[in-house]
Amino acid sequence: MNRILIIGAGGVGGVVAHKCAQVPEVFDEIVLASRHLDKCNALAAQLPRPIRTAQVDADDPKQVAALIRQIQPNLVLHVALPYQDLAIMEACLETGVPYLDTANYEPPEVAHFEYSWQWAFRERFAKRGIMALLGCGFDPGVTNIFCAYARKHHFDEIHEVDILDCNAGSHGKAFATNFNPEINIREVTQRGKYWENGQWIETEPFAIHRTFDFPEVGPREAYLLYHEELESLVKNLPGLRRIRFWMTFSQEYLTHLRVLQNVGLTRIDPVMYEGHPVVPLRFLKAVLPEPSSLGENYTGKTNIGCLIRGVKNGRPLTYYIYNVCDHAACYREVQAQAVSYTTGVPAMIGAKLMLTGAWRGQGVFNVEEFDPDPFMAALPQHGLPWVETFVDELL
Ligand code: NDP
Repeated sequence: MNRILIIGAGGVGGVVAHKCAQVPEVFDEIVLASRHLDKCNALAAQLPRPIRTAQVDADDPKQVAALIRQIQPNLVLHVALPYQDLAIMEACLETGVPYLDTANYEPPEVAHFEYSWQWAFRERFAKRGIMALLGCGFDPGVTNIFCAYARKHHFDEIHEVDILDCNAGSHGKAFATNFNPEINIREVTQRGKYWENGQWIETEPFAIHRTFDFPEVGPREAYLLYHEELESLVKNLPGLRRIRFWMTFSQEYLTHLRVLQNVGLTRIDPVMYEGHPVVPLRFLKAVLPEPSSLGENYTGKTNIGCLIRGVKNGRPLTYYIYNVCDHAACYREVQAQAVSYTTGVPAMIGAKLMLTGAWRGQGVFNVEEFDPDPFMAALPQHGLPWVETFVDELL
């Protein structure tokens, strides 16, 4: 009998809870825990079968370990914030329970993320005989698995990867972010970075952009950003010569972001306000819409995929694989928008593969280190169909 403990009751946590509830043959019991119990209970009330809920401050490894001891789950699925990664991993080590997340660790006081902090747990997880699966959302997550699948089935060697993330939806708000506002704004305002010929190349934020014609969506302007899957794919895709990440933004979003930056509201250092230290970005998060609240009137689609170039049997090959997801259809199914949906579904699939033993290991892993086939087969079964094409030139 499997019992899963989901930590984080936001946009993504809601989707994970819904999707786990749809698969009772794997997830016999579901427990949803988060900082505020009322949010867990509100989500629980939407689900087709009863689940348990709990309150936890996941910044505190002792609280998480105590909760794990009380619940006795077979897996902890962490979809709270990246700040909690290390605390939850420590608690999993202490209690001997496997771990899965969708975003790599970043310290609250520095807008910087990288895998080194979590990869450093590898030996301890291996010694404890348990598995940690990192970055099992869509990007990172499915995009890494698309690369592993391409390498397994279509290429002898992959030379170039462009990860293309397009949200062509409209939520009707002047400004909102599709996942946690604090994490989102920290991510998109940092310097751009990509990897070419064995070295990292940095750019000014939003300095490089181009128009891509996305299937089922149309032409959109995409901006080169640094994204965490670049780090693990550079390590795990032998023969790679260049890898870049592109994300679309509307002019409306970029204008709002520029103004917020210019007036200091994206700062992450505390400022004194009426005798109290206030982090401007945290205050901004408090006044922006929550990602879980955006779904109701969201229209349009996302298209996220990988454009891959390399060689097969000595011949150059260009391959494009992507998923298209419709915001309104997601809302009808699980009362969430497509960015939460495309993250929550892969997290549930990763948990399913771990619990059924299809993916097993001892240590800390990124998703591209496992056989992509069972994951690729599960994606369309659980709401994320994918399309692959062989194209001459898309760029
Ligand atoms: P939300 O802000 O909607 O949800 C975050 C949830 O975590 C909230 O319920 C929040 O509680 C809870 N939380 C925050 N701090 C703590 C804490 N100390 N203890 C317990 N619970 C806490 O964000 P999203 O659901 O949009 O995103 C969740 C995660 O998914 C993020 O890490 C994000 O980076 C990741 N993500 C990954 C993607 C991928 O493709 N790989 C794409 C999109 C997101 P409260 O409501 O009280 O604040």
